[in-house]
Amino acid sequence: MNCSVGSASPRIERLTRGLAEPTLLCNPKSNQRLPNEVLAGGVTFVLPLPILFTRSFLAPMSTTPTAPAPPVAPISFEDTRIAFEAKSDGELRTMYALFAAMNNGSLVQVGSSLMQSALKLGFPGTKFLIKNSIFKQFCGGETIQECQPVIAELGRYHIGTILDYSVEGTGNDRSFDRTRDEILATIAMAATTSNIPFSVFKVTGLLPTALLGKMQAGTALTAPEQAAFERGQQRLDALCASAHQHDVRLFVDAEESWFQHTIDELTETMMQRYNQERAIVWNTYQLYRHDRLEALQAAHDRAVAGGYYLGVKLVRGAYMEKEARVAKQRGHATPINSSKQATDDLYNESLRYCVNHIDRISLCAGTHNEASSLLLTQLMQQANLAPGDERVWFAQLYGMSDNLSYNLAHAGYRTAKYVPYGPVEAVMPYLLRRANENTAIAGQSSREFLLIQKELRRRKGRS
Ligand SMILES: Cc1cc2nc3c(=O)[nH]c(=O)nc-3n(C[C@H](O)[C@H](O)[C@H](O)COP(=O)(O)OP(=O)(O)OC[C@H]3O[C@@H](n4cnc5c(N)ncnc54)[C@H](O)[C@@H]3O)c2cc1C
Repeated sequence: MNCSVGSASPRIERLTRGLAEPTLLCNPKSNQRLPNEVLAGGVTFVLPLPILFTRSFLAPMSTTPTAPAPPVAPISFEDTRIAFEAKSDGELRTMYALFAAMNNGSLVQVGSSLMQSALKLGFPGTKFLIKNSIFKQFCGGETIQECQPVIAELGRYHIGTILDYSVEGTGNDRSFDRTRDEILATIAMAATTSNIPFSVFKVTGLLPTALLGKMQAGTALTAPEQAAFERGQQRLDALCASAHQHDVRLFVDAEESWFQHTIDELTETMMQRYNQERAIVWNTYQLYRHDRLEALQAAHDRAVAGGYYLGVKLVRGAYMEKEARVAKQRGHATPINSSKQATDDLYNESLRYCVNHIDRISLCAGTHNEASSLLLTQLMQQANLAPGDERVWFAQLYGMSDNLSYNLAHAGYRTAKYVPYGPVEAVMPYLLRRANENTAIAGQSSREFLLIQKELRRRKGRS
């Protein structure tokens, strides 16, 4: 193994020693999925969906398309009939009431603190109330087992589930081991369930955040810290090895910039080891950071030189306010783009880069942005990639942007949802973030709320 390829610090590199020279194994079989609407001679044929989705999410990867993809009908994210196909009238009305409540910023603020206090005090009925309202909207269940109905329902509409264990550890070895074991269980579940195309985890769930930061800052670790860091590396390796063994794709989520570089190095080390035949380990790039397209290009160069596949999840980034605050506190320049437009441009540029290098890169657009999602479908078409090409994925969060997920899946694109799960108390911070995201901004209702309203009106007009 060429140690200059994606190698991290010598301490991280230690785990890569003893690896065999990379070999490229290409699967000659094409597993391209047909689009459900095929235009031929100006006539649109709508193919029956069961024929289109007989292939499992886990089918082996084809590295090159065998024939040019046929042109596909343009996709519309405005089709609320498809977006809410899975919801009964009653379920849609319940969603409407929930999003209407979240639309009201003051109600969200008061409700959030009330809910948290009531949960802490063990006020009777609070957990039941939360579990049957906001939790039900945005989470799959408290355990993997409880997520089964959600996995099955999404699967019925050809949407994959990405089980996201949303419990933050307490920062000791016991909690890190527990998180590792839980992620191993999601990998085992993915290995036997065709509707689960990826597993996911955060590196901060496996080893102390402070050590990741120290490594990035070049601060020497004490002997106990060094030992703790190595135990973290072993947990990371256990997850990636299991994903490789079970042929399950594994996302490594991106986190804060002051330790993300250590995560990148650890993840690249895992890619060198486990992505020789296909992209098993996927790193995440946050395009709200102005340096991330360059980082992606450099990672691609190293993957080419090292003969392994690069798994890439592109997101805009979730820690914008925190990044600005910390940069200010530390007297650093902000790593964040100067405007939303600059982030959008960089995101779209990165989509282009990945599609242009699809022979080496597998890509997932983790976004609720309609323009970027539409752009990716167009880029695929220009590159002659069939909608079902298994190197290109779209992903959204459960309970949000169903207009993207359901319409993309309906048109044959590989689509999946992060489905957070964990005890109600533990996922509260996640739920409160979702509630805040869905409040009206400058008097304008949230997009979700407007879509539900539109579908309710459509159904009323129909009856
Ligand atoms: C499947 C999936 C996986 C995800 N994984 C991760 C992850 O691993 N790590 C992570 O950090 N996030 C992750 N996210 C969250 C993601 O980063 C975004 O916060 C969220 O999806 C909103 O961005 P958007 O692309 O959906 O849409 P949009 O609503 O179009 O974009 C909003 C985003 O734009 C950026 N932005 C907003 N205003 C400005 C501004 N003034 N200047 C610069 N940029 C601005 C911010 O990133 C903001 O979140 C994930 C999201 C999804 C759907």
